[in-house]
Amino acid sequence: MEDTLSRLVQSLRCLPGVGPKSAQRMAYYLLNNKRQKGLHLAACLDEAMRRINHCNRCNNYTDASICSICQNLNRNLNTLCIVEQPSDVSAIEQSGVYTGQYFVLMNKVSPLDGVGPKDIGLEKIEELVSTRHINEVIIALSPSVESQTTIYFIQEQLKHLAVKVSQLAHGIPSGGELEYLDSHTIGQALKNRSDLLKQLNSTPST
Ligand code: ZN
Repeated sequence: MEDTLSRLVQSLRCLPGVGPKSAQRMAYYLLNNKRQKGLHLAACLDEAMRRINHCNRCNNYTDASICSICQNLNRNLNTLCIVEQPSDVSAIEQSGVYTGQYFVLMNKVSPLDGVGPKDIGLEKIEELVSTRHINEVIIALSPSVESQTTIYFIQEQLKHLAVKVSQLAHGIPSGGELEYLDSHTIGQALKNRSDLLKQLNSTPST
């Protein structure tokens, strides 16, 4: 039977980017002089794994039935941003630009992986849009074939509702050097170019 130390090292390897050497280093680090911190980490992990669920409205992670974003009435209630993962919600929140509502798909349509349009909550999105008076849906998925398929199904589901559907602009990342970018990215950036005068006169509305 495996001893306790081996099991700890093996368990740490479930984390992304942690190979056998790193896992061993982490285990010894905690055992050598950070036992209290190790116990605290174990307690936090135990609590998080047991208590964190999906928000009943938007699918984001929460330990309540409705997450704090959905509960916040000071946010823009008429805009819905659709993302793939709860971590995308955090990324957009950190940008400080968006103050509307969210819906987390938890998946993208991918027939090869057995994920069909019924598996991404299209009916829930439609219900949110129609019952919560959403007037703009912003689809914020990273560019890929699966994203395009997913966007198509979302648009199809919402086309009978009077709602504006937009998607994030694809283009040059901040700090990106033109000469090192692939031609697809440059092409997308050219297509999504913005009018500087319009930008100067516009005020953020999200
Ligand atoms: Zn929520």
